[in-house]
Amino acid sequence: MKKRKFRPKKNYEKEKTFNGNTSNNEPAQQIKIHKKPPEQPVEKIIYPKFICSKCGKPIEELNSAIGDKETGNPVHFECVIEFLKKAESLKEKEEIIYIGNGNFAIAFFEVPQNRKNFKITKLIPWEEKGKDYSWKADIANLASKV
Ligand SMILES: [Zn+2]
Repeated sequence: MKKRKFRPKKNYEKEKTFNGNTSNNEPAQQIKIHKKPPEQPVEKIIYPKFICSKCGKPIEELNSAIGDKETGNPVHFECVIEFLKKAESLKEKEEIIYIGNGNFAIAFFEVPQNRKNFKITKLIPWEEKGKDYSWKADIANLASKV
């Protein structure tokens, strides 16, 4: 290698070019380098925009949205509660509560100040189990990419 240093520049360049040409015999590796890398997963999560069919306003936090009973489209959680308040004729000390798994209920609070002590007087199944809430799957997929 030391020898090379003392060669005239011209020769050195020639040698370089020559080496490049001979490398045609084993081009596979070099070509790979110039190939486009595989598509990068999108880092920024862009949640699809959904409009609440109950109030007509956009749903900002889809994670807290719930599927509409008829259409399956996302609606505001609060909008469902408001809807149920009107749909169910609540008696005194009764409230609409969410009990999980897409189900609401009418709860009777004997002492309204005590939120832990209540009786469920009526179950209100809301989200249908077999229903295809595709927007939820979309969100789950997006979330799993984080
Ligand atoms: Zn709404």
